[in-house]
Amino acid sequence: MIIKHLAAEIYKPQGVDPDKYICHRCSNKTKRYFYKYYSEIHGEYIVYCLKCVNIGRSDSVTPLRVINTTPESEPCDYSLGFELSPAQKSASDRIVEALDSKQNLLLYAVTGAGKTEITFEAISLARQRGLNVAFVSPRIDVVKEVYLRLSGAFKNAGIDLLYSGVKIESGHRFTVCTVHQLYNYIDHFDLVIVDETDAFPLPADDQLMDAITRAASKHSTIVLMTATPNRKMIDFVGRENVVSLTRRYHGHDLAIPKVVWQSVSKDISRKRLPGKLEMLIRNITDGNRRVLVFLPEISLMNRLYPLIKEKFPDSDSVYSGDPERYVKVDRMRNGKTKALLTTTILERGVTFSGLDVIVVNAEMFSADSLVQICGRVGRKTDDPTGNIWFIAGHNTGHIRQTVKIIKSFNAGKTTI
Ligand SMILES: [Zn+2]
Repeated sequence: MIIKHLAAEIYKPQGVDPDKYICHRCSNKTKRYFYKYYSEIHGEYIVYCLKCVNIGRSDSVTPLRVINTTPESEPCDYSLGFELSPAQKSASDRIVEALDSKQNLLLYAVTGAGKTEITFEAISLARQRGLNVAFVSPRIDVVKEVYLRLSGAFKNAGIDLLYSGVKIESGHRFTVCTVHQLYNYIDHFDLVIVDETDAFPLPADDQLMDAITRAASKHSTIVLMTATPNRKMIDFVGRENVVSLTRRYHGHDLAIPKVVWQSVSKDISRKRLPGKLEMLIRNITDGNRRVLVFLPEISLMNRLYPLIKEKFPDSDSVYSGDPERYVKVDRMRNGKTKALLTTTILERGVTFSGLDVIVVNAEMFSADSLVQICGRVGRKTDDPTGNIWFIAGHNTGHIRQTVKIIKSFNAGKTTI
């Protein structure tokens, strides 16, 4: 069942129950996430839900309307362009088994393991059987990237793409969308693949996890994919249903971060580029490589950027609200930018060749974030390692834990 504004069938006479403060679309029951105002047009008070308003308003005067789709199978063949490694093949087989037995699964895979491709066989089989498939992520940039890869591989399939403001609809049987968009589906998808399950805001928002289970059909398979699983995810699928993939698709080890001890704040406040940071960037760019410089906050980035720009004219800076965000990332991708300063927005979902990484004030990042950041380097077969430097004023458990996680991946083990 799919909630649709102009559909004929009424699912609930009101999107929001104004007395009990319940949103029937997203199941929000928290009173502070509703807004109440007096409408002159309706001559009454209207309550609407703030939780799901970004996918269209659910309120107390508009019914929720739905359409029901009928199952439809399609050949849904795909081309991969390369052969899965034995480890990838074995993980792919486990997803197919989970689909057959209608069980949930957690794919605990190192960054750059080729997770997306591992799901192709199960997606293809599901569609051949007439099952509805959703590939979702909390992050819009991941959704866009996955859509391009899926539509490139499944050339003859009709794939929907949905995220805030963008709607390419093709029957809702094979849908790529943000997790938020799942509020519009009830008991609909038989195979739900959740990429970057650990990405904000998903772990912090139980309601989003509920949206996934509500959008899934009664006998569905939900596949959670992550490089940094937490207890909740493991409990959700059951420990016996955790599949680990500790090697990257190209088989090389992950780079181990090197820690450089320096407190950068004093230099930056005196408008001086910290010496060790300058030396690292110089060595990287002289070696004809590029660098992402991660910073824990925008204010620090804004103070550091002019100092770097002075010495390195081919540098740039980017943050989540930056209107030129996608243009700047493209300039980095095509090699025009040599050093890109960034907040955690580029900690996942991006791949640049010939890339090294520097994390400034590494002690201020979480271990999950540091693992993702380290995962940016060495993603290509022709450049399989790369270098990572953490610049830190002091050591923290997060830095130690990150190094431990990466070393255990390289040893073929996981830390859960
Ligand atoms: Zn709502």
